[in-house]
Amino acid sequence: PEDKAVILNSIRDIPDFPQPGIIFKDITTLLSNPKAFDTLMNHLEARYKNYELDYIAGIDARGFIFGAVLADRLNIGFVPVRKKGKLPYTTVAEKYSLEYGFDEVEIHIDAFGENGSCSREEPSKVLLIDDLMATGGTAKAAASLIDKVGAKCVEACFIMELTFLNGRGCFDIPVYSVLQID
Ligand code: IMP
Repeated sequence: PEDKAVILNSIRDIPDFPQPGIIFKDITTLLSNPKAFDTLMNHLEARYKNYELDYIAGIDARGFIFGAVLADRLNIGFVPVRKKGKLPYTTVAEKYSLEYGFDEVEIHIDAFGENGSCSREEPSKVLLIDDLMATGGTAKAAASLIDKVGAKCVEACFIMELTFLNGRGCFDIPVYSVLQID
């Protein structure tokens, strides 16, 4: 609980960004605070060290930061899930709806080994991570990409969850959040 307060207090609320009426959770102040960042990474490392993960997949762009540090701490690989058009090799894509229109995320087809496996016996075990879950649409699309390339997404992890949007209701895999915001 004390650790969570250190993490929570390092995150800044920015009213009316990117649009009027939205309170944006700004994690740049967490990243620039070494005590808070280390406390968060210690918490995530302790939770996931016994999951026998093969990869961390991080969502563009803030999921890259937490995901890459966690992957290094767990001595496993990191895989970026990117917005459309950024990845250079053959990709698999998934569209998801926004309030108005849609967006699209992509992953390299061989990101978790050929056919999603390194051992050729069983699918790679992947943890999906992002900074914040709102409706869950972005992470759900990312999780289905992991499936599509033949790997197994064992959990979706977020630093913050906006619980009033009930994003976790759209997942058929476990969802974990460090901080719940209502
Ligand atoms: P969702 O798809 O509705 O769950 O939205 C989650 C995506 O929007 C994530 O990639 C977040 O990084 C981003 N996002 C939405 N609101 C915030 C916020 O307040 N702070 C930081 N990121 C946000």
